Amino acid sequence: MERMQQVVGRARAAFNSGRSRSLEFRIQQLKALERMVQEKEKDILAALHADLHKGGPNAYSQEILGVLTELALVIEELPSWAAPQHVKKDLLTMRDEIFINPEPLGVVLVIGAWNYPFILVIMPLIGAIAAGNAVVVKPSEVSENTAQLVAELLPQYLDRELYPVVTGGVPETTELLTQRFDHILYTGNSAVGKIVMTAAAKHLTPVTLELGGKSPCYIDKDCDLAVACRRITWGKYMNCGQTCIAPDYILCDPSIQDKVVENIKATLQEFYGEDIKSSPDYERIVNKRHFKRVLSLLEGQKIAHGGEADEASCFIAPTILTDVSPESKVMEEEIFGPVLPIVTVKSVEEAIEFINRREKPLALYVFSNNKQVIRRVIAETSSGGMTGNDVIMHSVVPTLPFGGVGHSGMGAYRGKYTFKTFSHHRACLIKDLKMEAMNKLRYPPVSQKKVDLAKLFLLKHCQKCRVGQFISALLGAVKAMVGKILSPQ
Ligand code: NAD
Repeated sequence: MERMQQVVGRARAAFNSGRSRSLEFRIQQLKALERMVQEKEKDILAALHADLHKGGPNAYSQEILGVLTELALVIEELPSWAAPQHVKKDLLTMRDEIFINPEPLGVVLVIGAWNYPFILVIMPLIGAIAAGNAVVVKPSEVSENTAQLVAELLPQYLDRELYPVVTGGVPETTELLTQRFDHILYTGNSAVGKIVMTAAAKHLTPVTLELGGKSPCYIDKDCDLAVACRRITWGKYMNCGQTCIAPDYILCDPSIQDKVVENIKATLQEFYGEDIKSSPDYERIVNKRHFKRVLSLLEGQKIAHGGEADEASCFIAPTILTDVSPESKVMEEEIFGPVLPIVTVKSVEEAIEFINRREKPLALYVFSNNKQVIRRVIAETSSGGMTGNDVIMHSVVPTLPFGGVGHSGMGAYRGKYTFKTFSHHRACLIKDLKMEAMNKLRYPPVSQKKVDLAKLFLLKHCQKCRVGQFISALLGAVKAMVGKILSPQ
């Protein structure tokens, strides 16, 4: 307890010193982080390989490239994001200064998950630094090599007091959560999400919860199946299926189910070759516990492809299940492994109904030659995010927020949205001490005349109706005058 108190206490003292607030300091820290990623690239790739068997090029494109792109964007855009945002004025405020001032929240906590262990802590850290906060970083203990490396590297490049790293598992995180933070961003499963939210509630700390769930993928009959299945195969089996927004299951018409299986099989061959175990592009399940959990989902299922497994190396082959019952275990929980069930539905209506009967997913995918079908699914369902005619890709667009809805999470981050998440948007109004007569409107004694005047200033329809009354009075006067001039004496 004392250790966590000290870590958070030091971060708070550093925040209170005010040094994290200046724009120059924030940009300097972000540039230092960029230097860290560039200089320690090899170490980061080695840790990712040790944790998840991620091959170099894969690890680079999944975890390092995104971080470098985000850093470049934030460093460039931060001066405009951090500047006061002036807002529209009305008749009463036309002489005043009104603006929204983004300001740091204070000391924030970032808790990461193991499946993309580097990017899941560094991305939120970037936005939290950009917003001027002190940040306590807690990487996942399940991916211990990356956790250790993050703990080693950050203090070498960043301000040690402002951005401490805490390593450890459940006991350490539990202890950390007793401390008071000004925001917590947690990535992981929903059960722990509830623990985090409960702990945060004790201090009235706001939370961003980046959770998971079962992300559906509907394939319309009117679809280029070869292209659709290649894209789905990529998103499903990358990182051995351990991606929060991987398509969890497929919904399609029974008449195309076999063709879907054939196309995915052909793509697997194209991506990973005959001997998938020796492919440098195919990862492993993170540990024995998850290995057993994923394998248990195959029990009683019709395996159309794959199903081979090796416990010693936590290898599970890319697997496809057909004619899966909606009531089976594999359809109850998030799979988070290389197993792709196909559930057949007769129409887009049935697919929509199927999706809406379940918790709101983190992502949703629709494949169709007909964009109307895609728009219909968007209009009649809800999910954290969605991509039409592809998978995963909405999550890499830096101008889109990334987050869940309902059981798949709350709040969002990425690019400007991370900056917003970790900022307080302070409403600011500055008046001068002149024009005191105007203020009499709101001072006692209050009268109907004052209320009428206030309505005229504040309510648009009153302004319009006053202008209307004025114009018709004016027209009346003009008419009377013209009538007088033209009338025979
Ligand atoms: P995990 O086991 O790494 O746990 C996440 C974090 O929670 C860790 O830092 C861990 O120390 C902490 N933790 C675990 N148990 C705790 C407890 N009892 N009390 C306090 N802290 C605790 O990761 P996981 O939960 O297995 O992650 C997988 C889940 O995360 C999946 O559901 C996946 O969909 C989801 N996920 C979501 C996103 C997203 O961005 N929305 C990204 C990745 C993963």
